[in-house]
Amino acid sequence: MKTAVFSTKPYDQKYLTDSNERWGHELVFYKAHLNEQTCRLSEGFQAVCVFVNDELTESVLKCLAGHGCRLVALRCAGFNNIDLLAAKNLGITVARVPAYSPASISEFTLGLILTLSRRIHRACNRTREGNFALDGLLGFDLYGKTVGVVGTGKIGAGTAKILCGFGCNVLASDLYENAELKTLGVRYVSRDELFQKSDIITLHCPLLPDTRHLINTETIKKMKTGVMIVNTSRGELLDTDAAITGLKNGKIGSLAIDVYEEEAEVFFEDFSSRVIQDDTLARILTFPNAIVTGHQAFFTVEAVQAIANQTLENITAFEQNQTPPGIVQWENVQIK
Ligand code: NAD
Repeated sequence: MKTAVFSTKPYDQKYLTDSNERWGHELVFYKAHLNEQTCRLSEGFQAVCVFVNDELTESVLKCLAGHGCRLVALRCAGFNNIDLLAAKNLGITVARVPAYSPASISEFTLGLILTLSRRIHRACNRTREGNFALDGLLGFDLYGKTVGVVGTGKIGAGTAKILCGFGCNVLASDLYENAELKTLGVRYVSRDELFQKSDIITLHCPLLPDTRHLINTETIKKMKTGVMIVNTSRGELLDTDAAITGLKNGKIGSLAIDVYEEEAEVFFEDFSSRVIQDDTLARILTFPNAIVTGHQAFFTVEAVQAIANQTLENITAFEQNQTPPGIVQWENVQIK
């Protein structure tokens, strides 16, 4: 199937091209994001393949439909960047990769928690300068700490299981309870109780109208002083300005973000020789107790191979008039 692949990096091209030997689709790779300015590039394609920062607004979807495009194949699990109702009304099928390697994100989350709890990021910088002093590097054990996991789907459940292995008390909040986690000792509580009791809070729910800025000035007030907050889910779950205030006044003891509200302008690009114009991001980068990674949690060989395979399986199924395994339907993601 003739597919325009947007937001491609060399690794996307490599893994999609390798996997496509099996399927034989006609893939055309664009570096550009798909948005209002670039949607004309989709002319002549029956499908577009997109990533987390492509903007599939109603007007972009109308432009795609006008060009005869009938499938949006997301190379990611999240689908917050697409207007699903508009897609439905325009007769465009949407498919995602729901579970390419949940372990990649769960494991990375633990990496961020340990980096902050043991100040590993600071230690690495120091020893490179020949400084082997320990002052300022005093950490804390994870053993016995209370960790709140918001969202216990595939990634949150994986994270909770690893945390149980560390001897943490794991609290969880989700619309649905996971029976297996409960047998491991995970306790489901209200979001408020989770905020009040947790030493560490890690976010693994999707970005929906209901979850946007679920960490904000008011919810931060409910948390323990010195709380660690980790966000590997979607940037807009966290009100970044509120987090900066919390870091400045010490209410937040440490923060790790792999995703950022305004990441589309910066993430996945090399700004090391340029001036970052985003003052909020630049401020976050100044805190010794905050770390930012550039939407990297998914980035393992296993995950990118699975993303390529499952994306092409979705496109193949659609081409053969079958339901793509990763289909996303507006009706099924509405909060009832
Ligand atoms: P999933 O669908 O398996 O799990 C999401 C869970 O969140 C579900 O159990 C759902 O019931 C729960 N949920 C929904 N609304 C909630 C609410 N209001 N409060 C609490 N829980 C709620 O998804 P997943 O595969 O575990 O992925 C989770 C998120 O991780 C994705 O939505 C995506 O945004 C993000 N993600 C990030 C990366 C990365 O590289 N940083 C990679 C993949 C996914």
